[in-house]
Order: sequence, then structure tokens, then C-alpha cells
Amino acid sequence: MKAVWWIKRDFRIYDNHCLWDACKKGNLVIPFFCWEKSVLNEGDYSSFHLQAQWEALLGLTTNLQNRGVATRVVIGEIVEQLELLFSKMPFDQLYSHQETGNLLTFKRDRAVQRWCDKVGVDWIEKNPSSVIRGGSAHQRRLRLKIADFRKQAPLEIPELRKLQPLPVEIIEKGPDWEKLTSIFPKFRGFSYNSNLSKIDESSALKTLDSFLNDRGIEYSGGISSPNAAFKNGSRLSSHLAWGTMSLCSVFNQLDKRREELLDSEDRGKWNRSLRAFESRLFWRDHFIQRLESFPEMEEKSLNSAYADLKYEDDPDKLQAWIKGETGYPMVDACMRCLAHTGFLNFRMRAMVVSFACYGLHLSWKTIHQPLAQMFHDYEPGIHLSQLQMQAGVVGFNAIRVYSPTKQFLDHDPEGRFVKRWIPELEKRTSAEIANAEKSIIDGYSPILVDLKSRAKEMKSRIFEIRKSVGGKIITDKVLKKHGSRKPLKKRKGVVENKRQMTLFKTFGSGKT
Ligand SMILES: Cc1cc2nc3c(=O)[nH]c(=O)nc-3n(C[C@H](O)[C@H](O)[C@H](O)COP(=O)(O)OP(=O)(O)OC[C@H]3O[C@@H](n4cnc5c(N)ncnc54)[C@H](O)[C@@H]3O)c2cc1C
Repeated sequence: MKAVWWIKRDFRIYDNHCLWDACKKGNLVIPFFCWEKSVLNEGDYSSFHLQAQWEALLGLTTNLQNRGVATRVVIGEIVEQLELLFSKMPFDQLYSHQETGNLLTFKRDRAVQRWCDKVGVDWIEKNPSSVIRGGSAHQRRLRLKIADFRKQAPLEIPELRKLQPLPVEIIEKGPDWEKLTSIFPKFRGFSYNSNLSKIDESSALKTLDSFLNDRGIEYSGGISSPNAAFKNGSRLSSHLAWGTMSLCSVFNQLDKRREELLDSEDRGKWNRSLRAFESRLFWRDHFIQRLESFPEMEEKSLNSAYADLKYEDDPDKLQAWIKGETGYPMVDACMRCLAHTGFLNFRMRAMVVSFACYGLHLSWKTIHQPLAQMFHDYEPGIHLSQLQMQAGVVGFNAIRVYSPTKQFLDHDPEGRFVKRWIPELEKRTSAEIANAEKSIIDGYSPILVDLKSRAKEMKSRIFEIRKSVGGKIITDKVLKKHGSRKPLKKRKGVVENKRQMTLFKTFGSGKT
């Protein structure tokens, strides 16, 4: 039996269900990766992602090589490359992890399925998560009650040395970094960015280890600040997004750590932090499920009542926001930090989106791709769900307009973060920075818009839809399909999902 393991966003050998099953069932397994031109050229893909995938692939192929297994790495489109491989060496099974990607990869996967059906290859998509394909919301919940795949024991690394060696004509080393970047005009001249965190399996392990044994104690209360979150957050998001670590492994190590902590003096503090961390981990699949159930989410609001919500979508305002030149120091610092590091904590991500949608009247669709490009941990399901939530177009979440000044005073009162990313403000006092909205600071952009009045206008448009009979009927249906099924709480006439509020409440007052 010959099997191909199509490496997607699962660049690891530990707890890899594709590799495990392929090795168990096939005596010849071909690890296969394709740099897909259409995927790399898509608007949500950036040099940050190229670097992450490059590192992850290098780490994986090295790990495989050390165990005597070669890889086939090619450039092109996946169907033509599978066809080419099949013509050189027909195979019986194609293994890949079940990906919940953007619309392009969704359509690509359908084309792969058609090709497999045509040539008689059995495509097996492995899904060791709680994201379920197909079925009604009710059926999905029932299935999860029976078995939560996130909590199963991780799989060991299979015995790779037993496999037959790949025929030489099948092995392809793939392009080196210079060649890869030169093929795509959008990456030409791009040099390696040392500000990004390293993405490979051993770095993922180190990150988890340092979090669970050291950094994580300050997680609760420590991740709202854009300064502290770099250290106190787990920083696992990029590893989970690119699959250099599985969610199962994280849950497994978390449980082990809890046992170790039973006798620890710091048990209380650790437990608080680890509970908060675990609840975030659970949110991961919840949001990815939304995209899995509604693949058009990239183009359409989950809640169709908001489809015609009017936005200004001024390209100049978009550019000012991307460059961090809006005149709102906290927003600008966040955008510049993102452009350099590819990372921002949850609260600040929510703030920059709220500012773009409520203040600049840019629609979530307009900011989707530029923002996705800047997130090193870009995970389409989480990203699109959060964009729509923060823009207020899901219908059943609270409308939150973040005040950048309040965020500054609460989470960066000494101006460390702002001054680091906005050199123009280096010599300014915290009071001057906090007052930037109301005064002109020499050498720094004046405010682009008046946030308060613009937000008021956008909120009234949104509330009009919320209050309408049609809006309520559609929202009810969306809630049944995509909500988290926890009790709903009434607050000032707004139905709020209590569980989703924990994203804010665990870490502060919930005021924005
Ligand atoms: C507009 C917006 C866009 C976002 N886009 C992404 C994205 O593309 N990829 C991404 O991984 N996260 C995204 N998030 C969620 C969150 O901001 C990041 O996961 C988190 O900041 C990553 O830091 P960490 O790994 O230290 O997280 P931790 O706080 O340590 O959390 C642990 C893990 O839980 C998951 N997680 C945390 N928060 C959330 C959440 N709100 N929803 C779902 N899963 C969560 C992540 O996998 C994270 O690595 C987005 C949030 C917002 C507001």
C-alpha cells in the first residue's frame, strides 16, 4: 500500500494523525509539500506566513531526514502536482489534516476531492479536534458530548525507520529561500525577519514548556497589557495555527502540569492562570467551527441582517490605519508593533478592529486581508469570527467600542509601549500622550477622525438593524447555529452570550 501524506498546516511528527495512520497502513509513505502559487498569491497571505511555513517545513523535513525519511517538496498547484506524482508512482491513499481555511483553499480542496475520485485515490482527512464537518449544529453538539478529540492522548512519533525508502526520482528538495522568494513578485527582495517568533516543532515545545513552568503564572491579569502579553501570554498561537504543535498536546501537558502543581505553594495563583488559559484554548475550535459551518464567511456576514450595513471604506483612511498614522497613539503603536512583530494581544487586536470599523467606518471585509497579512498566527476561522464580532455584525454579542485613551491609561500608563513604537512621541509625557486626541503634537499625525461622534453614528446604524423585527429573527437563527449554547444574559436590552463575555471578564472589568 502506497500513501501520500500531504503536509498542510500540520508541520510536526509528534501527535500527527496523518503520519501515524499512513505509517500504520502503508509500507511506503511519501511526505509531500507543495508551495501552492494561488495560495501564496492570495491577498491574506504575507511574507510573515511564508517565513513561518518555511521554518516549519525546514524543521519537519530535518526531523524526518534524521529518521531516514525523505520528503518531496514542489512548487505549483496542488492538483497538477498530485497528478505528476501519481504519473511517476501511482499511490492508493492521500492523507491530510482536515483544514478549515479560506475560501480559496476550500475550493482547492473540492478540486482535490474531484481528482481523487477520478483516479481512484482514497483521500483521508484526519481531524483530531472538535471542529466537525457537516451535520446540523445539534448533531455536532451531540457528537462532542460523546467524545472530545481535544482531550485524547497524543500519538507518539511512529516508527519511521521501518518504512521503505522513497525512490530517488520521487524525492525533491524544493526551492531554497532565495529561489522561493524570487518566484513570487510580491516576495521579491524580502529578507528574513528576525522579529518574528521561530516556528518549528522544537520551538513550539520550548514555548509551551516555558509557559507552563514559568511565564504562565502571571497569565491571569497579565495578558491585557500589550507589553506584558509578549511574556505572560502562552505565545502558542502561531504554533497552533501552523500545526507545529497540536491542541491535544497542549491540553495533555496542561493536565500534567496541574498534577505537578498539587503540592506547590503557588498552586492558587497557577490554577487561576491555567483555568483562564484553558478557557481560551476551548475558544479556538469554537470559532474555527463557525468558518467550517459557513465557508463564505470571508465574503458574507454570519448574520445576513448586517449585509447592507453602510461603510465609508475610504482608501486613505485604510492606509493611515495600516501605517499607524491615525493620530490615536495607542492604535498607531499597535499597528506598528504588528507590522514589526506579527503579534498583538487579544485586547489590542479587538481595539484596532473596533477603531477601524466604528471610528474610520471601514468594513470588516476591507480590513480583513491587510490585518490577516500582519498576523503571524493567522487562523482564518478565529480571525474572521473575531473581525465580525468586534465589528458588531454578529448580532448577539455586546457592541464594544474601545476607547484608545482608556486602553492607554489602563494598560500602558507609563507609555512604554507607545514610545517604543512611535518614536515621534518618545519625549512626550504620559499626560500629553493621553491628551493626543484633543491637542496637536508637533511631529505626530493629527487625529484622522473624531472617534466619539463617528462611533455614535455607526452604533446607531447597527442598533437600527438589531432592533428591527427582521434583524431579530435572523439573529435568533444565527445564535442557534453558531452560539456557544450557554445561558444568555439580558443587559440593557441586549442579549449577551455569557460564555463569550469571559474573553473580557477573566481579565478585567469588561469595560472598554
Ligand atoms: C480581531 C482579532 C483577530 C484575531 N485573529 C487571530 C488569528 O488569526 N489567530 C489566532 O490564533 N488568534 C486570533 N485572535 C485571538 C487572540 O487574540 C490570539 O489567539 C492571542 O492573542 C494569541 O496569543 P497567545 O498565543 O499568547 O494566546 P493565549 O492567551 O495564551 O491563548 C492560548 C491559545 O488560545 C487560543 N485563543 C486565545 N484567544 C482566543 C480567542 N479569542 N478566540 C479563539 N482562540 C483563542 C489561541 O490559539 C491561543 O494561542 C484574534 C483576536 C481578535 C480580536
